[in-house]
Amino acid sequence: MSVNPHQDVERVLLDEETIHERLREMGARIAEDYADEPPLLVGVLKGAAIVMSDLARTIDLDVDMDWMAVSSYGSGTKSSGVVRILKDLGTDISDRRVLIVEDIIDSGLTLKWLLANLRSRGPKSVDVAALLRKPEAARVEIDVKYVGFDIPNEFVIGYGLDYDESYRNLPYVGVLKRSVYED
Ligand code: 5GP
Ligand code: MG
Ligand code: MG
Repeated sequence: MSVNPHQDVERVLLDEETIHERLREMGARIAEDYADEPPLLVGVLKGAAIVMSDLARTIDLDVDMDWMAVSSYGSGTKSSGVVRILKDLGTDISDRRVLIVEDIIDSGLTLKWLLANLRSRGPKSVDVAALLRKPEAARVEIDVKYVGFDIPNEFVIGYGLDYDESYRNLPYVGVLKRSVYED
């Protein structure tokens, strides 16, 4: 880990302008789709904090915002689908329209669990908006209503995504140099 985080980036995958442009498109679609009843946006901490704040500001509706933090038990970098709630919603979602805001969907197991958990609380609808989706996600049956970008199966950081809690504040999505995690 360097003091200058940019030095650890192999290459920029999505620059700031590209991300913001895509978020504006997603926000416009969300505003259309929810015009009759604005959703509660549920950001999944910590990774989705940046996506949430930028996406929310592109939606011209009176949306509410709340947050959950979950931790996925698993060995190393693979998630197991067994999830623990670290911070729950402060909002009663029964009869509400809910839109989960995620940073990235990899195996999709965390999201699958989260969807089941929120659906058990009796909302009117639960859907998902994710900035990034990796190829493996296609193999689980989750319908992600709004996807920013389908990306290759590489470990990415920035724009909320971390490696060992670093790099979240990079304004772009980049691929981390292997030398940072292999030595
Ligand atoms: P899933 O259950 O979909 O496999 O896990 C998704 C979670 O794994 C994401 O919320 C994120 O925390 C982590 N994750 C998956 N792929 C990446 C990646 O390329 N970079 C980073 N920083 N985290 C990732
Ligand atoms: Mg996430
Ligand atoms: Mg992480």
